[in-house]
Amino acid sequence: MIPARFDYVAAGSAAHAIDLLARHGDDAKVLAGGHSLLPMMKLRLAAPAVLIDITRASGLSGISVDGEELVIGATTRHADLAASDLVRAGAPLLAHAASLVGDPQIRHRGTIGGSLAHADPAADLPMALVALGGSVELTGPEGTRRVAADDFFTGFFETALADGELLTAVRVPRQPGVPWGYQKFVRRANDWAIVGAAAIGGRIALANMASTPVRARAAEQALAGGASPAEAAALAAKGTSPGEDIHADREFRQHLARVLTKRALEHHS
Ligand SMILES: Cc1cc2nc3c(=O)[nH]c(=O)nc-3n(C[C@H](O)[C@H](O)[C@H](O)COP(=O)(O)OP(=O)(O)OC[C@H]3O[C@@H](n4cnc5c(N)ncnc54)[C@H](O)[C@@H]3O)c2cc1C
Repeated sequence: MIPARFDYVAAGSAAHAIDLLARHGDDAKVLAGGHSLLPMMKLRLAAPAVLIDITRASGLSGISVDGEELVIGATTRHADLAASDLVRAGAPLLAHAASLVGDPQIRHRGTIGGSLAHADPAADLPMALVALGGSVELTGPEGTRRVAADDFFTGFFETALADGELLTAVRVPRQPGVPWGYQKFVRRANDWAIVGAAAIGGRIALANMASTPVRARAAEQALAGGASPAEAAALAAKGTSPGEDIHADREFRQHLARVLTKRALEHHS
């Protein structure tokens, strides 16, 4: 459980981090909260020659309002999301999701940018961002581009981040007062979801039902056509082919998707 040897550089700003990424190429990895990267390095599943620490880079942390959106800096911690009055008022689903990530230690180190870039299909914040219809800002030497959450997660632990790009900010539509529901089925407190479901404004996202967070589109269409939450939720697993592991086989995951979607739609906050 000892990582391979690496060099460490603390970036002073996003521009500095992007410059370092360009200089070191494939040999480098961005370090944010370290709660996913460092375990992978200790298991030698990742062995970057250079770690570029962005946690103290200026301009990458904090929560603000820009018109109808919340803008959340990439290095904003889960605990700060959960406690933010702006997030609790404008996107309470996101604050709630952040409050369920791991335990307090993880929430005080882990960052929203790290969680999204890591792209674990069982994770909370990727599912929440897809449900909310949010987007991410990706910045590289050529400038900043914006990618919708629906398009950002491209595969198992894979995203639309290109070589040399840094996830710099997350944008979330403000939806004060819009009913939402969030369900996470776990074996033990603090675990990742065996299956998760998040619903708001007619959108439904599922965690751990595919190699990425996915929309329950058949259920969404049924809702839009006037179906009851129970009728719509019965379609939540349609078209999914979730993986199997020691916690759940495919059929059990599909059952959970239906039950959790029903609860998310009926137990709206
Ligand atoms: C015991 C334990 C329990 C956990 N439980 C949960 C849980 O219940 N739910 C959940 O959702 N998560 C859980 N997590 C994961 C936790 O939320 C992590 O903090 C998160 O997944 C990664 O964020 P990080 O800031 O620690 O990123 P890091 O570990 O620093 O980085 C993760 C990856 O993202 C890349 N990266 C980081 N920031 C950027 C950026 N701005 N731009 C581009 N690439 C970037 C890194 O290079 C690396 O590849 C748990 C982790 C642990 C250790």
